[in-house]
Amino acid sequence: MLDSKLLMSFDFLNTAIEYLKGVGPKRAALLKSELDIYTFDDLLNYFPFRYIDRSKFSKVANIQSDSAYIQTKGKIHGLKTLGAQRGKRLVGYLRDETGDIELIWFKGLKWVSDKIKPNEEYIVFGKPNYFNGKYNFTHPEIESVAEAEKGVNATLQPFYSSTEKLKSRGLDSRGIARLTKTLVDQIHKVINETLSVEIIQQLKLIPREKALISIHHPENQNILNKAIARLKFEELFFIQLALLRHKFNRVQKVAGHNFSIVGDHFNNFYNQHLPFELTNAQKRVIKEIRANMGTGRQMNRLLQGDVGSGKTLVALMCLLIAIDNNFQACLMPPTEILAQQHFKTISQFLDNMPVSIKLLTGSTKTAERKLIHEDLESGKLNILIGTHALIEEKVKFKNLGFVVIDEQHRFGVEQRAKLWKKNKVPPHVLVMTATPIPRTLAMTVYGDLDISVIDELPPGRKPVQTFHYFDSKRAKLFHFMKQKIAEGRQVYVVYPLINESETLDLKDLMDGYESISRSFPLPDYAISIVHGKMKTDVKDYEMQRFAKGETQIMVATTVIEVGVDVPNASVMVIENAERFGLSQLHQLRGRVGRGGDQSFCILMTSFKLTKEARLRIETMVKTTNGFEIAEVDMKIRGPGDMHGTQQSGVLDLQLADIIRDEKILKYARNLATEILEHDPLLQKPQNAILANRLQQLQKYKYDWSKIS
Ligand code: ADP
Ligand code: MG
Repeated sequence: MLDSKLLMSFDFLNTAIEYLKGVGPKRAALLKSELDIYTFDDLLNYFPFRYIDRSKFSKVANIQSDSAYIQTKGKIHGLKTLGAQRGKRLVGYLRDETGDIELIWFKGLKWVSDKIKPNEEYIVFGKPNYFNGKYNFTHPEIESVAEAEKGVNATLQPFYSSTEKLKSRGLDSRGIARLTKTLVDQIHKVINETLSVEIIQQLKLIPREKALISIHHPENQNILNKAIARLKFEELFFIQLALLRHKFNRVQKVAGHNFSIVGDHFNNFYNQHLPFELTNAQKRVIKEIRANMGTGRQMNRLLQGDVGSGKTLVALMCLLIAIDNNFQACLMPPTEILAQQHFKTISQFLDNMPVSIKLLTGSTKTAERKLIHEDLESGKLNILIGTHALIEEKVKFKNLGFVVIDEQHRFGVEQRAKLWKKNKVPPHVLVMTATPIPRTLAMTVYGDLDISVIDELPPGRKPVQTFHYFDSKRAKLFHFMKQKIAEGRQVYVVYPLINESETLDLKDLMDGYESISRSFPLPDYAISIVHGKMKTDVKDYEMQRFAKGETQIMVATTVIEVGVDVPNASVMVIENAERFGLSQLHQLRGRVGRGGDQSFCILMTSFKLTKEARLRIETMVKTTNGFEIAEVDMKIRGPGDMHGTQQSGVLDLQLADIIRDEKILKYARNLATEILEHDPLLQKPQNAILANRLQQLQKYKYDWSKIS
């Protein structure tokens, strides 16, 4: 019975769109090419993007804002075509009892002018435009009052986006609405429910059929809200269910090393070597990781923490737990400079402790490399720090138990997978990132990873003070730099890099370097320069000079973005700051403020700024909170464009918005977790409906294989 119903719905909804009354082959071809609408189901899922309240009309004289879509009613007069070729346009006026408003069309001139008849009343719908001291409507939708009255007689009229080509075949918003009306009138009893009765009752959702009808042609605002809520919930819920089921599955299937012991290495370090008290956030996160690694299941965890929050130390203490359990561990930063720095820092921390630690990078000499390989295989080596060189096939461990990947956004999923294979039972994996991904986003995209967050900076840190100077204030900038250098501080000056191969970028940098050299001459000042075109050893030499304090100014491209730690550097100057993205600006600023001194970040820009650039700069000046910055960043760029999420595919949400609908998302996630905890494979009869729907979505809608 259920099966035959399923079949019926499948058949009906998969009917080719040309068979819908009012479509036919020509319109069907356009619907396919313009909107990807091939079937009844595709049209059913082509939702309106707003609704017009047909009961409300604005008076022309009262139009005072260009912020909302409105409709006005009146007669259209004075239609004429102006200009020629590209400037050609049709203009006219809508008149009501309060005045005239100009109407302008740049496209479809003939279609519009043919449609408009004198002395007939029209409804004009659009967003008013403010130009030359008055309002106009550019490309409004028009409809005669007579037509409107015999059309869909609802107060809330759906508004669909259309294209010029569709409009020229009568499929403007109104035309599409007519089609969806024809369709929803036929879907009674063919729409299957996708959620179980319990969920529907628990969340007081309306049935799926009602929701689909109402999102196209709502009877009133109330039912529309319910329809949207139901469909948004469903969208987010099934994504969470899929992600979490994947995770539950992995956790069940893939065994992990059981790190049951916290032994001497950890305890001695904690009690005798740790130079400062851990922050509460560090303690909490270490506990989370420890508990996770002690379950006998493999850990896959994302550690988020703002720049300077002390992630390295957390990683180190977890490395010690691995050693306590007789496993080897490795730490993998994305660049050679960082690998060296981690090696140095960790070696210093572990000074006098019986831990063997080595560095492996692209420039490790053959003899040394051979030794490392031997010690790894014999088990003599406890910790290996290295770049990509570490993933190579020939690097074999005796018993790798724990892997830390630093600054994850530079790393692909495949690399993670290669590390998994370095032991028969895959090692625990901790991915550290300083690019704070808003939690809602992380929940959607990394639903498969567990997440730990360090949300606290070590005590005594003074937030970096940030200023914005226009280029014209360069003299003031140099004066400030001299003052800070006189106080014994060091300064970074960073230039943007759009494309390392572009000679232009390098020229910017060299010009800047020369200008600084003139204003900060030897012997009073010494300047380092570092850019991507330099050989690694030359680069390192310059970095070291700066780190040792032999030079006071470091002129660099963004190669210093990640991880470099020179606590005495307290000024970060960012040239052409308008050319950087928010998260990059935040990363760069994180290079200062690591010592006890008050640190400064100065954002230099030209006078002309786009609206977005201005928002980025203002945000930087206003806050040092990485999560706040990430939220703004996500709003500016859209979630699909965030670091590391490009391959997600999960973010092509149709209705829901992971920022605005955060509450629904949380609800969806909690419910999905609850269900899977009791029935990880969705095998219980009451969950069959969910399993079915997932299978259907997997097949037709989402490519879950991209998620991992
Ligand atoms: P990030 O999270 O950016 O990798 P680091 O691990 O490099 O941060 O830590 C930044 C600096 O803070 C380092 O110099 C580190 O030694 C120091 N640090 C880390 N934890 C603490 C703490 N609990 N108290 C004081 N300083 C700390
Ligand atoms: Mg770090």
